[in-house]
Amino acid sequence: MNVKIIASLGPASSSNDVVSRMVSAGASGFRVNFAHGDRGSWSQYVRIVRDVEASSDAYVALIGDLSGPSLRLGKLGESIEVKKGSIVRFTLSTKSETREDVVEVPVEIPRKVIEELSEGDVVLMSDGKISFSVIEVGDTHFDAVAQTDSTLSSRKAFTVRGREFDLPIVGKKDLEDLKFACSEGFDYIGLSYVRSPDDVSYVRRLVDKMNCGLSILSKIETLSALRNLDLIIEESDGVVIARGDLGMNIGLEEIPSIQKKIVKKSREYGKPVIVATQLLESMVENPVPTRAEVVDVYEAVQIGVDALMVTGETAVGRYPVEVVKWLSKIAKVAEVGLIHTYERLSGDLRTRFVKGVVELAEDLGASLAVYSMRGATARRASIMRPRVPTYVGVPKPEVARKLSILWGLNTRVVEATSYSEGLEKLYSTLISNGRLRAGDIVVLVYGLIEEYEEVIRIRKVSIE
Ligand code: PGA
Ligand code: MN
Repeated sequence: MNVKIIASLGPASSSNDVVSRMVSAGASGFRVNFAHGDRGSWSQYVRIVRDVEASSDAYVALIGDLSGPSLRLGKLGESIEVKKGSIVRFTLSTKSETREDVVEVPVEIPRKVIEELSEGDVVLMSDGKISFSVIEVGDTHFDAVAQTDSTLSSRKAFTVRGREFDLPIVGKKDLEDLKFACSEGFDYIGLSYVRSPDDVSYVRRLVDKMNCGLSILSKIETLSALRNLDLIIEESDGVVIARGDLGMNIGLEEIPSIQKKIVKKSREYGKPVIVATQLLESMVENPVPTRAEVVDVYEAVQIGVDALMVTGETAVGRYPVEVVKWLSKIAKVAEVGLIHTYERLSGDLRTRFVKGVVELAEDLGASLAVYSMRGATARRASIMRPRVPTYVGVPKPEVARKLSILWGLNTRVVEATSYSEGLEKLYSTLISNGRLRAGDIVVLVYGLIEEYEEVIRIRKVSIE
């Protein structure tokens, strides 16, 4: 399988057994959503994932997801049932109260958000399944009519359709969560509600200051992110098409074309792209997906995403392992005979070098074996969407984990102090585990190091 699978962790998947079965079924990345749970539970997820990784032969990526400038309900003792047509008062005061005609629900938002609201604004929750229409705005509250029945639970996130508020990309809690991700050895950090390239570079400076190796995935889910798409992609290490919130800010019918556009642009900038949310939503409750979901996953694979990311399906759903199995099953069929024919990135010298090597391997009908110290050459190869098996050797688990969610790369850790040593060791490993057989042709290469001589080896495998 070339496309990768990322599963969100939650109460439904918080055991070695479930995570290990998800890995066997094809998951190579796990997301921990910092909007739910606490450090205790997140640390436990990290332990589980690293334990499972240690007892398998694959490396997996851990993605921490910052809540970002989200609007949330406050702490509620118990969930509140709201009927369609009733009026809810969303208030800055912390108490929740149900009087005869109004239900009072606390919100955790800055006062200026309320100041900017106006009558007619639409408040959405749960990917749009819950909606309210604002009818009156006060100093410290707003009243809204429920357009749907709903259950409001503690700290539930909400969106005001098409509106953005000037809130910091990293709030107090996010900063602590970022430090946590850093110290727990997460590989990627997801940024929610990114609006501009400055949001991304701001977080990059924070990450640099913390001196950790987190790569930044910008979640594309606001109108501003769509407007600033090029610059955001350029500034990020990768992007997530976050269809949940995106679909609350734009018409759902616009998702297919926008998703294609984001994939195309990511490829132009040589950045990985992940599609997320509601891929197999019905499997939260059911052991088999709907026909429409199968078609959606198939389509995502065909347009060339690096990875498929499921959210609630594996975090709180009843069939987390089956979800991953279904993703694998659909992806495998979608990849039969699939060739990504778009024009390959040329870009800088190193990229052109990799492009040439990939095409050489393809023309020879060879496998490609790359030794990559920091992963950069492997990333460049992945972006080319090579049509031949691509094996990567890297010196450290940290590098292998990052590469594990990139399209088409089959990565292992091969310790070496020089490129040529690494490449020869990778070659031996591929022979001993049967990836290369007598008579196969393999192109062996490492990235352009711009020294006296570059080496590209073409070898026909002979085994005594
Ligand atoms: P979330 O992101 O689950 O953190 O909201 C995914 C999305 O919005 O699609
Ligand atoms: Mn979101």
